[in-house]
Amino acid sequence: MTPLCQRGEASCGACCGLYNRRDHSRRALAALLDRRTAALAHAPRTEAAFAAAAAGLGADDGDPLFPTVRVCPLLGWLDGDRTRVGCLAHPAVTGGAELRGAGAYDVATCDAFLCPSHAWLSEEEAELVAALCARDPWLYGLVVTDVPFVRAALRGVAALTGARVELRHLSAPGFARALRGLLGLKERLRPGSDGLYGAFRPGPGGDPVPRTLDYAALSRRPSPHDEILVCVGADPRSGNDLDALEEQVRAGLDACVVAFPG
Ligand code: SF4
Ligand code: SF4
Repeated sequence: MTPLCQRGEASCGACCGLYNRRDHSRRALAALLDRRTAALAHAPRTEAAFAAAAAGLGADDGDPLFPTVRVCPLLGWLDGDRTRVGCLAHPAVTGGAELRGAGAYDVATCDAFLCPSHAWLSEEEAELVAALCARDPWLYGLVVTDVPFVRAALRGVAALTGARVELRHLSAPGFARALRGLLGLKERLRPGSDGLYGAFRPGPGGDPVPRTLDYAALSRRPSPHDEILVCVGADPRSGNDLDALEEQVRAGLDACVVAFPG
C-alpha cells in the first residue's frame, strides 16, 4: 500500500507523538508545530544542532498524556500554508542531511515504522480518508489511525443509502462535505476520550481491545448507531455525553444520506 503518512494532500504525525499532550486541540497543536518549525528553520543542518534544538523544544512541550509514548520535537510544518505535517529532520526536507537521529527514535526506527492501519485499511478506504481530510493533518491523523471508526462511518452511510461508499461519490461536493462532517465527530470529543486513542489500546496479544458501551449501566437500550458511538467513545466515563453524540451521529448520517449522489 502507498504509505498513509504522506498521501496526496493528507499528512499524519500521530506516531511522532503529535497528540500525546493534555491539550491536543487543533489550536494548541498548530501553535506547537509553529514553534518547532520556526526553531528548526534556523538550526544548522547538523545532528548536533538539531539535537540541541530538540532538547530546548522538548522542554517546552509540557506533560505528555501518555508518559510512556515518546513525543518527537522534530515534527513540524512542511509547508508555509501549514497544511502538511512531517519530519523536519528527514533528508528530503533538510536538503540531504539525515538528522532523524536527533529525534525521539533512531533513524532505523523512523524509517521502518508503519502503524497497523497500513495492514488493515484497504487502498480504497485509505484514498477516501485522505481525500476527505486533505490539507487537515489534525483530523487526518485522528481518523487514519482508527480503522474501526472509518469502517463504522462508511458502513453507517451504506446501511442507510443501500450502496457502498466509493471514491467516485466524493466528486459530489455536498456528499464529500457531509461525510467529512461525520468523520469530524473526532473533533468534538473530550480530551483523553477513548474515541481519540482507542485504536492505540492493545490487548495482551497486541491486537486492539474491543471497545464497548455499557448501556445497562446507563439504564438505556443500545443505540442503533452503536458501532460508531463505540468508536468515538460515547461513554460518560470518557467524559463524553452519549445522548449528545448520538444526536450528532444521527444528524451526520442524515446529512450524508440527503447528499448521497446515488
Ligand atoms: S501513525 Fe501511521 S499514518 Fe500516521 S505517520 Fe505514523 S505510520 Fe504514518
Ligand atoms: S525524527 Fe522520527 S519521530 Fe521525529 S519527527 Fe522525524 S520521523 Fe517522527
